[in-house]
Amino acid sequence: MLFKSHGGVHPNDMKAPANEAEISTIPQPPQVVIPMSQHIGAPCTPLVAVGDEVKLGQKIGEAKAPVSAPIHASVSGKVVAIEPHLNNLGNMVTSVVIENDFKDTPAETMVPASAEALESPEQIADIVREAGIVGMGGATFPTAFKITSGWGKVDTVIINGAECEPYINSDYRTMVEHPDDLLKGIQLIMKACKVDKAYFGIELNKKFAIDLLNIKGGAKAMGIEIVPLKCQYPQGAEKTLIKTVTGREVPPGGLPASVGCSVFNAFTAYSVYKACYEGWPAIERVVTVAGSAIAEPKNVKVRVGTPMQWVFEQTGGFAKEPWKIIMGGPMMGMAQYDLEVPCGKGTASLLAFAADEDKTVENPVCIRCGQCIDACPMNLQPIFMYMYEEKDDVEMLQKLNIMDCVECGSCSYICPGRLHLTHAFKTGKAKVQAYQAALKAKEEAEKAKAEAAAGEAPAEEKKEEK
Ligand code: SF4
Ligand code: SF4
Repeated sequence: MLFKSHGGVHPNDMKAPANEAEISTIPQPPQVVIPMSQHIGAPCTPLVAVGDEVKLGQKIGEAKAPVSAPIHASVSGKVVAIEPHLNNLGNMVTSVVIENDFKDTPAETMVPASAEALESPEQIADIVREAGIVGMGGATFPTAFKITSGWGKVDTVIINGAECEPYINSDYRTMVEHPDDLLKGIQLIMKACKVDKAYFGIELNKKFAIDLLNIKGGAKAMGIEIVPLKCQYPQGAEKTLIKTVTGREVPPGGLPASVGCSVFNAFTAYSVYKACYEGWPAIERVVTVAGSAIAEPKNVKVRVGTPMQWVFEQTGGFAKEPWKIIMGGPMMGMAQYDLEVPCGKGTASLLAFAADEDKTVENPVCIRCGQCIDACPMNLQPIFMYMYEEKDDVEMLQKLNIMDCVECGSCSYICPGRLHLTHAFKTGKAKVQAYQAALKAKEEAEKAKAEAAAGEAPAEEKKEEK
């Protein structure tokens, strides 16, 4: 049976020719720049100082907050600076700069876990946290927290192998080159989540991977059901995938765990395998390098902290002058303006496009065609959200459930008027968040004032008195 989701668009997947080329390894850069924040949650504090010698895989950044992930050295060498550097989101982030000694001297911690540890959900979760694994598809949510916060709520694990954005095929190559390891990683996630059933959703343009995992890998015998998905963007969006695979609908504002599901990217599952069976923390990612300005599209292994410039140079460079560089996919990725920005744990692709791909118009106009509404996988009304965002009407934006927008870009892609819809929704969501925070602060201040007027000590003081 073929599974299809609501809404979405059908861009040319542009996967060939890199689909056929094996993952290759590029030379390491002389220096890596490792940002101390590569995850959603509290940033890490450096554990090293300038002048320190570090080993491959050594932990160099840590944060104690539950929603966080430690960071490790992706090469061995010497720390030459700890300073702010531009990251892929355009922010200046404290980063550890390591001069590579090209020896790859491994840290003592890079050892496989014991067979006993791999039987315990708690110990697997600890290994995953210590390895700094996050959502490697780009979401960068700390994986260990996703596992432990789902205990008692989650009965189904879903592995996202849709890889539905055009051009990207780094997960596909991982599926076909490491099927057994990937399936072992999924088994570990199932064990850590305390469930015995997993669905692995893969789009049909990866038929070879589907057959390989089923036949050679023996997925079914492991409790892993491979679910072939219709090629449709954004088939891999978390809520869309849950609905498509299980029929369960995450309510507006809800989390996957509220319907008993937890979703992990395919490369995340492979990273769990690497951490548990080989002792490798999250220091390397397979990256698709593609786009109309690229001389030779391919998939390469890239160490975290490698500047984009180095990756482009080592993969054959540009065939045409690049007009736009994107880290991530063409629909949801971030445009980059400085080639020194380093690749991170969630960098699945680097794309470079030539000027003839420019589809922007000077005066975007809505022609009221309604195509954006049909395309929205979240059943939102992009045209009205756009209107109220322009008017700064935050209350209407909330009523229209703008916070459920997954910023997939389907509406912008389909819009014949070329309106910058997705950009407006990113801004609109930030406005709603600021409005809600201001409202909460106002309510708390009024409550404290009322308590003071009634002669009561405010709640905080009462707590301290106790
Ligand atoms: S409104 Fe948001 S979720 Fe809906 S299509 Fe546009 S970007 Fe995607
Ligand atoms: S797709 Fe574009 S032009 Fe059509 S209604 Fe939506 S915003 Fe307007």
